[in-house]
Amino acid sequence: QPAPARQPAAGLPLRPELAHEEPYGAPQLDVPVLLNVNENPYAPSEDVVATIAAEVAAAARGLNRYPDRDFLALRADLAGYLGRESGVALEAEQLWAANGSNEVMLHLLQAFGGPGRTAVSFAPTYSMYPEYARDTHTRWVTGRRAADFTVDVDAAVAVIEAEQPAVILLASPNNPTGTALPLDTVRAVLDAAARVQVPQAPAGQRGAVVVVDEAYAEFRREGTPSALELLADHPHLAVTRTMSKAFSAAGLRLGYLAASRELVDALRVVRLPYHLSAVTQAAARGALQHTGSLLAQVDALRAERDELVTWLRAQTGPSGARLVVADTDANFALFGTFADRHAVWQGLLDRGVLVREVGPDGWLRVSVGTPAETARFKEALLEVMGDLA
Ligand code: PMP
Repeated sequence: QPAPARQPAAGLPLRPELAHEEPYGAPQLDVPVLLNVNENPYAPSEDVVATIAAEVAAAARGLNRYPDRDFLALRADLAGYLGRESGVALEAEQLWAANGSNEVMLHLLQAFGGPGRTAVSFAPTYSMYPEYARDTHTRWVTGRRAADFTVDVDAAVAVIEAEQPAVILLASPNNPTGTALPLDTVRAVLDAAARVQVPQAPAGQRGAVVVVDEAYAEFRREGTPSALELLADHPHLAVTRTMSKAFSAAGLRLGYLAASRELVDALRVVRLPYHLSAVTQAAARGALQHTGSLLAQVDALRAERDELVTWLRAQTGPSGARLVVADTDANFALFGTFADRHAVWQGLLDRGVLVREVGPDGWLRVSVGTPAETARFKEALLEVMGDLA
């Protein structure tokens, strides 16, 4: 069931800028085929479950104590994983983690944003970014992506020069479009960021923080690099990742970032005491013992994604034109365009398939599911488009 509508604040002294805000709400509906929030369709296998259960049982024996505030063991495991995944050597002290990369991003804005400061990103992009800005009293500005959803370097540099932001957020692969950024684009943004005079920064000091949100990085196509490669030369860069997608662990709530030690140290100031529970730390370390089998599954999902994109591009939409699909390095595809995308979304839902009505008008986003779920989606889409033609 959809969540009930929010009650108006009955005389409560709510902050005025929150008065008309709704809580984050991708619909959580009980339908057979869930392809709407870019989850991994495969539940953890029994050996992963057994390891997590054993690690959590061990942690449970010490739950009378507060957890390790600095969780260096987990940070070392995450550094080891990124080294294997991207070939970039990192120290445990260069890693940070929180309850989902959502919270990691909030820490970044708490530490580097704030009143009198600006954060920028390039739309269409992840819908939560403006909320992190709002919640930290950071001014929010969006530049635009190009028509093919890439970031135009000259346009991005112009926005950075005009706005002098403290924080620049770049999602790569981007949600909802799937677009990965070439490292040359990230380098150009880093160069422009290095020239920014951030308000209230100590005299003589320049340089904004650049966040590359790589929530979907493990799904990137062959030859697409990770911004982790740029960390060694850029102390103002933070690359965020999550266990929600590739690790089949959205329910775990474990997001993390890699950056310079100095940047990570700044985040330690704003985190709540003991923000990462002993249970979360133990479960994450359990899952990280299985990176081999989990990444094998990611390979299967990437192949499924490429096959789905090829299929979608071969279909004719209700208007008589071929469907278009944005190039994607993620575990989802943005496809369209439809004169009435809501009718397509509703028609799919009527057939038990939930996708996401998100992104520029006319487009829909579908997550990559199991082969059976993808087959159900294709069948339903053909029926709906036939009805609307
Ligand atoms: N960044 C992007 C681009 C996302 O799409 C998401 C999840 N939808 C997140 C961050 C947050 O993921 P989590 O908090 O589960 O790590």
